[in-house]
Amino acid sequence: MRKKLLTVCVLALVLLLPALGLAQYKKPSDVIRTDAGDVAITFLGHGTLMLEWQGKIIHLDPWSAQADYSSLPKADLVLVTHEHRDHLDTGAIEAVRKEGTLFVASLKASGPLSGAVVLKNGDSKTFLGIRVDAVPAYNREHMRSPGEPFHPRGAGNGYVLHFGSTRIYVAGDTEVVPEMAELKGVDVAFLPVNLPYTMTIDMLVEAAKLIQPKILYPYHTGETDMIQVQARLKDIPGVETRIRPMK
Ligand code: ZN
Ligand code: ZN
Repeated sequence: MRKKLLTVCVLALVLLLPALGLAQYKKPSDVIRTDAGDVAITFLGHGTLMLEWQGKIIHLDPWSAQADYSSLPKADLVLVTHEHRDHLDTGAIEAVRKEGTLFVASLKASGPLSGAVVLKNGDSKTFLGIRVDAVPAYNREHMRSPGEPFHPRGAGNGYVLHFGSTRIYVAGDTEVVPEMAELKGVDVAFLPVNLPYTMTIDMLVEAAKLIQPKILYPYHTGETDMIQVQARLKDIPGVETRIRPMK
């Protein structure tokens, strides 16, 4: 009897989960409440995220190495931060493209995306009712070769997405940069922490203090020691750090 009850419970849960929008894509997700409706964030891995808001699907830097995009919902909006292969993957983009998909990208990343809207650092534009601010994402210390940063200033974008009055900042590949101090009212921040391309843990802590997000998700984490990341971030007042599988 008990076994039967357990089976019924498990079955009910399995049937109910998709209806709740949870675990639908076999990847973890969180819901952020906003005054314009819930934003469901699915953590696909590394620097790639899927957002759902008001029935619209937004893919950020879709990358086939992290997910089977043919099994994911088609995109209403695709945002690409820069042209590196872990951020601009035309295969993943083709898999989520549908009639009317909007594309937003940095100038260099826009090449293979016909009809993409190019945003430069400092530009703002509204798509599907979501204001998108393109903000700087670059290296100051970490260089590919002397004088040649992995991410030169002005080339790539981070994006601040406004859902009603809630701001979600997806930083792209960047180190801590002075412009982060000008980002006001960030509710949720995705900040990269992996070497040699983005931030050290020290830089991440500094960035978290500058930006002061209510919720911080370290992402694009590579081989970084996440136990150490969590330990270093836990005492920043007002910032709740959430570790998700974003290797
Ligand atoms: Zn990059
Ligand atoms: Zn990257």
